[in-house]
Amino acid sequence: MRGITEHLIEEEALRLGFSACGFAKAESVGEDMACVLDRWTANGYHADMGYMERNRHLRLDPTQLLPGCRTLIVVALNYYPKQLLPRENYQIAYYAYGKDYHRVVKDKLYQLLAYIKTIVPDVDGRAFCDTAPLLERYWAVKAGLGFIGLNHQLIIPGKGSYFFLGVLAVDVALQADSHARSLSCGNCKRCLIACPTKALTAEGIDCRRCLSYLTIEHRGPIPDEMAQKLGRRIYGCDTCQQVCPHNRYAQPTEESTFEMSPEVAAMTPEDWHALTPEHYKVLFKHSAMERAGYEGLMRNVSLMDNGQQTTD
Ligand code: SF4
Ligand code: SF4
Repeated sequence: MRGITEHLIEEEALRLGFSACGFAKAESVGEDMACVLDRWTANGYHADMGYMERNRHLRLDPTQLLPGCRTLIVVALNYYPKQLLPRENYQIAYYAYGKDYHRVVKDKLYQLLAYIKTIVPDVDGRAFCDTAPLLERYWAVKAGLGFIGLNHQLIIPGKGSYFFLGVLAVDVALQADSHARSLSCGNCKRCLIACPTKALTAEGIDCRRCLSYLTIEHRGPIPDEMAQKLGRRIYGCDTCQQVCPHNRYAQPTEESTFEMSPEVAAMTPEDWHALTPEHYKVLFKHSAMERAGYEGLMRNVSLMDNGQQTTD
C-alpha cells in the first residue's frame, strides 16, 4: 500500500507530464538478472557497444550511483508522435522525431526532486535517463510500471511501449510498488515474426542484426545482409513496436519538444540525398538524431539508393 508521500510524488510526476510513476527499493539486481546481462554480452549481442561490458558492478547495483541511495523512482514519458511521417517518406524512429529526450526527461526529474524536497526536506537525489549504467527496464518492472515484451521493450498495460524511461535515485526509503509478475505476451509473437532481420532472441536483442542499432550506434559500413532489409528506414526502426497490439492504445504525446520540425517533416528523398553538413547542423541541433552524426545519417541515406531493400 502506498503512503501519502508516494501518492503526492506520483501526482506531481503526472502533473509534470509523465504517464507513469512507480517506486522500487534500490538494491542489487540479484543473480538471475546478472546472468541475463552476462549471457547477452557473452553472446556478443551488444555488438560494438564495449561500454556495456564496463561498469558491470554499477549496472548490477544502483545503490552505488548515489550515496545512501534507498529508492528508485521510475517514470515514463510518452513520445508517440502526434503526426507520423507518410509511408512514402524516408522513415525515422518515432523517439527521434523531436529534441534530444535526455535533457527533457532529466529536467522534469529534477523538477520532481525539487517538489519532493518540499515534503521531505533532507532528501538528496540524482536523475538518470540513459546517462548511467542502469537497467532502466528492469527497474521499471520492479516499480510496477509494466512488463518486458518479447520485443524487449517495457510495455505499460493500456498505454503501450512508446515511452522514455527515467529514474530518480533518492536517499530516502519510500514504499516500493509490487510488480505484476503475471503480465506477459501470452501467445502473441507478432514482433518476432515482423522483425526484418530476426534480431529478437530469447536472450535479448542481437544488436549486430538490429536495424535500430546499425543505423544509429554502429560506425562503419552496414553489412549487406542487413542493409538490404532497411526498406525506407534512415534512422532507427520501430517495427517490433508498431506491430505490438499493446500500442493500439498509444496516445500522442503532449510534449511539444518531441514534435518534428516542419522543415524535417517536409523533406523529400531528394532533399535527404542533397543534405549538406552545414544544413544538417542547422536542422538537427539538439535533436535526438544527432547521435549518428552527419556521416552516419548520410551512410544510411545512401543505402536507400541501392534499390535492393525490402518494403517492410
Ligand atoms: S528495432 Fe527493428 S530490427 Fe531491431 S529488433 Fe526491433 S524490429 Fe528488429
Ligand atoms: S508484439 Fe506481441 S509478442 Fe511482441 S511484445 Fe507485443 S505482445 Fe509481446
